[in-house]
Amino acid sequence: MKVLVAAPTGLCFGVKRAIGFVEKALTQAAPVYALGSPIHNPQEVERLQKMGLCVVQSEMEIPAGAAAFIRAHGAAPGVLENLRKRNVNVIDGTCPFVRAAQDHARELSEAGYHVLILGNEKHPEIIGMRGYVRGPSTVISTIPSLFSSTIFKSSVKIHKLGLVSQTTQEESLLAEVAKAALGVADELRIYNTICRATIERQQAVRRLASAVDGMIVIGGHNSANTGKLCRIARDSNCDAVWIEHAGQLDRRWVLEKRVIGIAAGASTPDWLIEQLHNAIDNIAGRQGDVRNE
Ligand code: SF4
Repeated sequence: MKVLVAAPTGLCFGVKRAIGFVEKALTQAAPVYALGSPIHNPQEVERLQKMGLCVVQSEMEIPAGAAAFIRAHGAAPGVLENLRKRNVNVIDGTCPFVRAAQDHARELSEAGYHVLILGNEKHPEIIGMRGYVRGPSTVISTIPSLFSSTIFKSSVKIHKLGLVSQTTQEESLLAEVAKAALGVADELRIYNTICRATIERQQAVRRLASAVDGMIVIGGHNSANTGKLCRIARDSNCDAVWIEHAGQLDRRWVLEKRVIGIAAGASTPDWLIEQLHNAIDNIAGRQGDVRNE
């Protein structure tokens, strides 16, 4: 049996950086309060909680003078201001790519643009980004939602429209939105704020799918990008399974395969991928023939 690993796969730069910040803070002074789940991976959250991380849902739950961790998705400026007013030590893990998208949204609104954001309005990254917009903004996630928005329903053209995106959206959708938005604005300014990490992981799964008999996609069941990798593998006619940890591996499924692919979401830590390798080796009784593709 052979095991091929998608490349790149697993933790992206932004999440790795943020986790590094919180680990360092925890070794210096626990507890540290995380505003929202620090990473979409239950096993990694559990590991950090054992080190002294407390996950809270609102900044008001964080005691004055304590240490607060802001995850890679970032937070709205009002939230950061509330924390600083209460002398909370903010450990800011906002990914630099998310920060760039926030900056573009702020600049556009300050320059008088109506800010059109492509993304999921309930996602923390979009909630945070919207906090930087000083004027009108609209969030859409699909082309139909764009057509049903007030921007399209209005009888007058928007003078200045600025388009930014959630970092994990698909470039093809951003291009479609930009094309449709051309018709409703006198002036359209677009910032491509999509991060390459997601695109590269998806491309790696497409490449790997044709070279394996089955693919194991490992990552939190609450991780949208992991789910997307599994869908891409299945759409490529690959027998793909989505597990959170090696303990969920189906022994019979593994033994039926000659070549197994492994792919991991952008929030799956290396140690979970390593445990998966070991579990496959144990089931197959092999010495480990793992290659990065
Ligand atoms: S997916 Fe991209 S934008 Fe999001 S945290 Fe990772 S590196 Fe940053």
